[in-house]
Amino acid sequence: MSYSAHNPGGPRKRARIDSAVDILKAEYVELTIPPAVTHVTEDAELWFEDGTVALVAGEIGFRVYQGLLADHSPALKAMFAHPDGYISSDDGSAQTCPVIRLLDSPHDLRHLLRVYMPALIAAKALTFDAVSACIRLGKKYQMTELYSECAQFLRNHYTTDFDRWTGHAYWAPPSFSDLHAIGVVNLARLTGEASILPTALLACTLLRSDILRGFTRADGTQEILGAEDLARCFDAKARVVEVTIAARLRTFHPEVSAQCKSGPRCRVALCSALRMLEQKISSRQAAEEPRRVGDPLGPATSVCSYDQLGLCTTCEDMVRVRDLQARKELWNRLPEIVGVEVAGWPRAVRAEEEEEEEEEE
Ligand SMILES: [Zn+2]
Repeated sequence: MSYSAHNPGGPRKRARIDSAVDILKAEYVELTIPPAVTHVTEDAELWFEDGTVALVAGEIGFRVYQGLLADHSPALKAMFAHPDGYISSDDGSAQTCPVIRLLDSPHDLRHLLRVYMPALIAAKALTFDAVSACIRLGKKYQMTELYSECAQFLRNHYTTDFDRWTGHAYWAPPSFSDLHAIGVVNLARLTGEASILPTALLACTLLRSDILRGFTRADGTQEILGAEDLARCFDAKARVVEVTIAARLRTFHPEVSAQCKSGPRCRVALCSALRMLEQKISSRQAAEEPRRVGDPLGPATSVCSYDQLGLCTTCEDMVRVRDLQARKELWNRLPEIVGVEVAGWPRAVRAEEEEEEEEEE
């Protein structure tokens, strides 16, 4: 495909976009026009012959429907009024399809456009690349609905709710890899969504030296943590191990329930749980891998199951209560452990914990 450009290689222009999108706190976006490209490769997936605008990123062209995008993006709507050129038809006559050149990565743009082109989205299985592209470009082009949906997707997983978090099978959404926690932290920084930071940073503490390298995006650029967040993860990594071990020690403390009818046997059982914990810690280098001493927020049965323990009913109930309380305390302190402040983080999940905290203070 080739097109005629109005102003190839001309001065860069800046467009002021007025809009009521206060939520993004973006009064204007700076739209810098990239150098003129006259030869464009039509995208195999998103090039519709009857499309009414061609968006060009790098050397890839996406011919899509202007009206659909204009409805969702005040920023793109404003750009459509000032195209950078027009597609020339084969005979060079009709100039019907305007061309807009963008500075974005074609990979990101493809993710964004897929969402708006009919029947192309399977929102339930959003990949990290799609969420990341839709949040970054959604913010830039003021696509508030898309931006909000993707931010909500992250908030739903990287939740502030203990029960929801511990109900997840994995620390990352099913379509994300462990390394994508780095990207989630960066998206939290970009969007100001502080509430997703504690769990995303916690997930980063699981990464080993990979945390320094980050991961490679589809366009070849590297996604890594900022220096401050990297420092937070290093500090938090050891802290997470410490508090997890302390919580397990409290849970299996060899003091039996007041109602216990078989005291010595239950005391021996609790001591054996502590020995199993000790073996887990010393058999491998626990500090290297927080999850080796069990998921800090998961049940203590990762150390020793209730069947293995063989406690009497009242002692088992007591251990379950201790375990839940220890994990909820850890949850309440999570922002502090990973070194961030989150307004309204549920500090105390249960009333008795509040009382205990007051007593401690
Ligand atoms: Zn007992």
